[in-house]
Amino acid sequence: MVMKLISIVLPVFNEEAGIQVTIDTLLNYIEQQEEDYELIFVDDGSSDKSVPIIRRMLAQHSNIKLVEFSRNFGHQLAITAGLHYAKGDAVVVMDADLQDPPEVIPQMIKKWHQGYQIVYGKRKQRDGETFFKKFTAKMFYRTFEKIATIKMPLDTGDFRPMDRVAVNQLLKLHEKDPFVRGQVTWIGFKQTSVMYHRQERIAGETKYPLSKMIKLALDGITSFSMKPLQVVNIFSVVPLVSGVFYLGYMIASSSFNFAAVGITILLFTLGLLMLSIGIMGSYLGRVLDQVNDRPSYIVSKTEGFEERNKGIHS
Ligand code: UDP
Ligand code: MG
Repeated sequence: MVMKLISIVLPVFNEEAGIQVTIDTLLNYIEQQEEDYELIFVDDGSSDKSVPIIRRMLAQHSNIKLVEFSRNFGHQLAITAGLHYAKGDAVVVMDADLQDPPEVIPQMIKKWHQGYQIVYGKRKQRDGETFFKKFTAKMFYRTFEKIATIKMPLDTGDFRPMDRVAVNQLLKLHEKDPFVRGQVTWIGFKQTSVMYHRQERIAGETKYPLSKMIKLALDGITSFSMKPLQVVNIFSVVPLVSGVFYLGYMIASSSFNFAAVGITILLFTLGLLMLSIGIMGSYLGRVLDQVNDRPSYIVSKTEGFEERNKGIHS
């Protein structure tokens, strides 16, 4: 029987505090598995010692590979690049801070062997994350479920093995601002889940400030829902109807001072108008990014891939 190769893709952004432990843990994990493994670290423009640490380990282990971005392009694009370089029969995406525990992978791989092409990890509990993060994530997934054109499973991240056929389909989607977990749902295939307990970060701080969380949420919504645009149409009813009422009110009692009512309506309408333009702007920005047609990311260097070509996967 030909040995299966499993790729683990890990996006890395300034993870010097914990990356060594992550690598050691994964190497130890791999040793106990039947399948062959490759670890693909995608450095998303780290400015700390993450890259030298990975490089040192890469020199000693032929199954470690490194893809370096020329700058920070973001977590989702780092995943996309990792999928591009992965050669495995299955590809597992996981965070580099061990929040996604490797012990869960065998359970997932078992389901993959049973014929599921995508086995997403469902977070039943999340440790070490702020109330704000958990609350906003929960709200996002529930809102997304209501408005999106895809039925994305609730409370899943990017931690999941995907079969080669699914990965090949994902690679055909050339979105500039990808929302990978949405794309994975969109491509379909036989999908199932494995529950897991999301751990606390082993070291360092989150690399997802509020601004990046908002970008991720907006990318998710603008790529998989047209509902906000339809809401803009509904907004126009408000000033129209209030205008008619205001007119009626004026005619009925012309002796009153209407300034206050008028200003209220005006401000309200102005607010809706600006919100509408903002919503349209979000979509337009996405279109512009796609039309500009720049590469989604730039790889400045790759290391460790030559070994693979000389080895069993030539
Ligand atoms: N990450 C990345 N680019 C970024 C931000 C984060 O590659 O711009 C990586 C990060 O190193 C980690 C994963 O994406 O491996 C998830 O990020 P993080 O753990 O900070 O997010 P959280 O778990 O707090 O949501
Ligand atoms: Mg994390």
